Amino acid sequence: MENLALKMQERLPAELIAFLRIAGKGAEARGQRLYLVGGAVRDLLLGRPNLDFDLVVEGDALALARWLAKGEGIGGENEKGGERVTVHRKFGTAKLRRGSLNIDLVTARSETYAKPGALPTVQPGTIRDDLLRRDFSINAMAIDLSPGSFGRLLDPHSGRSDLEQGRIIRILHERSFIDDATRILRALRYEQRLGFKLEKNTERLLRKHKSMLDTISGDRVRHELELILKEDRPEKILERAQALGVLQQLHPSLRGNGWLAEVFGEARQKAIADPALYLLLIVYHLSEEEIERFIARLKIVGELGRNMRQMPRLKGDLPALADHALPPSSIYRLLKHYPPGLIAACALASDTPIVRHHLELYNNQLRYVKTFLDGEDLKRLGVKPGPRLGRVLETLREAKLDGQVSTREDEEALTRQLMGRN
Ligand code: ATP
Repeated sequence: MENLALKMQERLPAELIAFLRIAGKGAEARGQRLYLVGGAVRDLLLGRPNLDFDLVVEGDALALARWLAKGEGIGGENEKGGERVTVHRKFGTAKLRRGSLNIDLVTARSETYAKPGALPTVQPGTIRDDLLRRDFSINAMAIDLSPGSFGRLLDPHSGRSDLEQGRIIRILHERSFIDDATRILRALRYEQRLGFKLEKNTERLLRKHKSMLDTISGDRVRHELELILKEDRPEKILERAQALGVLQQLHPSLRGNGWLAEVFGEARQKAIADPALYLLLIVYHLSEEEIERFIARLKIVGELGRNMRQMPRLKGDLPALADHALPPSSIYRLLKHYPPGLIAACALASDTPIVRHHLELYNNQLRYVKTFLDGEDLKRLGVKPGPRLGRVLETLREAKLDGQVSTREDEEALTRQLMGRN
């Protein structure tokens, strides 16, 4: 069995190694064994940076976490330079923060799925049980942290060969996608991120069981989709999801096509890409009803949901922005009730250059234009508080946008003129 201690020494921060050694020793002193597992092992072998470390202990994770929090030379809960330890008793997990490193500590467990898509029933188990419950072979390796065998690789599912020779994403058993269909989305994410391929049987089962995605709650699907949208080139994952029929399973009208790739790429070029913007672009071509269905399926709430719901209305207003002679005040009036995030999405999505230009002009300049005079100034000039005052302010702003006033004095003169009219 290969020992990775040297590789760890080369590729992981020295203070983390020191911590892992202390933690391994501490576990042993309590008759337990501690392992580094999952993504950190995968990325160590690949030479990719990863600051999230999952530790699994065959024994009581909470007791070990508490011991670590108090431990000699490690630093207690609120000590400077030491770990910050947060214990979640209900889940039997502990989180340790050490500088920019995130370390999760859990008890080794085995899982059984009472029904597809439901969260599993868990019981304490061995490290082998714990690796067996994982998604793919490349994520199902562990490194022993016990003093006597520090750095020993545990690889019961041949993850290392899949990682280094096969370059494949492989599930661990035939029911994997039935038990937890979020793995369908995870598989596509790793495939594109690492430039790997789905292993043949894994791809066959993924196609066969894609309808199991219907068993996954909106929150969990949304979470996985957001993880996809945090990858470097999410459009590649969506394109693959479309080719496999996975995207349509989430919503029949979704498309992972060349158009999407183009607008995603442009969003990144403009350095405005984020999951919320991508999601708005994903629903850009959907009708009002289709958007409602998407929002309901993914349980989208808050600002993003509101922005999505306003999308069809803003799209309806876009033709009015196609006029080259449109004065800035008219652009302002058309757009002032729409949120900037939605306007940014429509600017990327619209294929009419003048419409794009007007949307960007509003977002980058017009919405920031402020009058010299404020409400207090207007009251001093004799405008009575109330709706009228708001209208005067808006008129001043529009005059300023169109260059009809440019100084404080101009605005005062215009205010007097407006009052004189009534
Ligand atoms: P990433 O680099 O994407 O964060 P990661 O491997 O650290 O990768 P996490 O989502 O943090 O991914 O999960 C940690 C580990 O837990 C994974 O490596 C995998 O072993 C396991 N895991 C996560 N989600 C599942 C799942 N749905 N089914 C089975 N195992 C899972």
